[in-house]
Amino acid sequence: MSRPGALEALPGRATELEGVPISRLLPRSRRRLVGPWCFADLYGPLEVGPGLRMDVPPHPHIGLQTVSWLLSGELQHDDSLGASAVASPGALNLMTAGAGIAHSEQSPPGAAGPLHGIQLWVALPDAQRHVAPSFERHAGLPEIAVEGGRATLLVGELGGLRSPARAFSPLVAAEIRLTAARAALPLEPGFEHALVLLAGSAHAEGTPLQAHTLYYAGEGRRELLLDGGSPGTRLLLLGGPRFEERILMWWNFVARSADEIAAAREDWHSGRRFGEVAAYAGPRLPAPPLASRPVPPTPAS
Ligand code: MN
Repeated sequence: MSRPGALEALPGRATELEGVPISRLLPRSRRRLVGPWCFADLYGPLEVGPGLRMDVPPHPHIGLQTVSWLLSGELQHDDSLGASAVASPGALNLMTAGAGIAHSEQSPPGAAGPLHGIQLWVALPDAQRHVAPSFERHAGLPEIAVEGGRATLLVGELGGLRSPARAFSPLVAAEIRLTAARAALPLEPGFEHALVLLAGSAHAEGTPLQAHTLYYAGEGRRELLLDGGSPGTRLLLLGGPRFEERILMWWNFVARSADEIAAAREDWHSGRRFGEVAAYAGPRLPAPPLASRPVPPTPAS
């Protein structure tokens, strides 16, 4: 029986993204959302080289933001707005899909060495999910000292500090680097939170953290205690108020109804709405058949 205050361990599902092994932490059957966070793919560390590279051809998104954060390696982003940017350690890529965008993600030419990172999706609130698409890259994100470590604020707010990344609802994503064996993370009690071990080792609220696992902390906590942390341990903290809107996720779309999904799929199939990713050399991803509902097809990320 778990102790009061213990975190709920939700092991990721090992799967693949265009041939690259990944661990899907969200959505899972036992947990679809943490605040507005509706998707989390953890990849690596894996050795990129001639035999293995990330190559996700152009594919569409609606109703969400994608947040890409790397611990090592690089990923090239190109989209239908013409934005071209490399996600690399310390530089956040944030894409607001809103009404519709298409993008590709791939290892840059000649990339070699370890690739390690995470891609997250934020479900946009109903009032803003049809905004015009946009893309941002943020280097030099704000950092704050927390007891026993430092936090880099990727998106949202933590400890009174706010990330410059565009956000549409209250939320947090922060990378924590431990500098001491014991640490305490300040939490917003109105948020539900989850923690992911990215590198190193630590216990959270007495539970030894495993890799490729989402630890759900629920809501109502003012802090999260870490101990036994090895130097250089890195963790991802996610949170936000419980997302009360009922969303429908299918492939790379976050919507509210099956009709919206069908319309977005048809627009992608017919070359409408999403534009072209001109920088990508090669064919785009076809949408899966709608007949595969109600089992949602694997997102292309
Ligand atoms: Mn994508």
